[in-house]
Amino acid sequence: MLPPVEAIVRLFAFALIFAGMAIWEVLRPRRALVAGRSRRWPSNIGILIVDVLAVRVLIPTAAVGAALFAAGNGWGLFRLAELRLSFAAVLGFLALDLVIYAQHVVFHKVPWLWRLHRMHHADLDVDLTSGLRFHPIEILISLAIKIAVVLALGIPAVAVLAFEVVLNATSMFNHSNIAMPRWLDRLVRFVVVTPDMHRVHHSVRRYETDSNFGFNLPWWDRLFRTYRAEPEDGHAGMTLGLPIFRDPKELRLDRLLTQPFREDRSEH
Ligand SMILES: [Zn+2]
Ligand SMILES: [Zn+2]
Repeated sequence: MLPPVEAIVRLFAFALIFAGMAIWEVLRPRRALVAGRSRRWPSNIGILIVDVLAVRVLIPTAAVGAALFAAGNGWGLFRLAELRLSFAAVLGFLALDLVIYAQHVVFHKVPWLWRLHRMHHADLDVDLTSGLRFHPIEILISLAIKIAVVLALGIPAVAVLAFEVVLNATSMFNHSNIAMPRWLDRLVRFVVVTPDMHRVHHSVRRYETDSNFGFNLPWWDRLFRTYRAEPEDGHAGMTLGLPIFRDPKELRLDRLLTQPFREDRSEH
């Protein structure tokens, strides 16, 4: 598998899911937006472009490249255990998802990591573009962790590519501002984190922020008792974002990039 193939597959899947979720949000929105699209979308998409450029410049091989390197050099526990490719792929996918869950918990608990991650939480609305809004330093740390896991386990490249595509798609899906029938949410929530499940994580209330850490598979939150079914104030009534950085000018791209290094001065 050549790197351009990886980039094309990822870009195509991204464009398809982005368009689908954007149309769904317009046709069947869950909540009225507080800050709106025009203030947020240029910045949220801008930060995605910064992230993609940072990764392509600093870690151009990405996680798929690490998987190909591990395969070429016989690295990884899965290879030592001589697992069948299909089994190693499924196990590798699950391992990556668990690691991303654990990483998310750690980013909430360690103060300097929370400074990086809280920019994701400072969005005043949550829609599909919030699922793309991560600080480039968080993205680079996350990629380094994924590469370490891929090398240590020897996860097959096909599983790594599938994981990256699925994680990108589910992140846009579970941040989207779409109305889903309750019965459908309950059903989907057994296998994938739904928008109603992840929205609890974006509550301004800290105990709700510190729940529902899963981005993709919903099982880890149930297993490690970080699951919260509903927000206390209901989905229509809850306040999204953080108690700090509530000034709408904090939605600007330059402010997003500097938020980890600043205290909130909007009230001064
Ligand atoms: Zn979080
Ligand atoms: Zn989120």
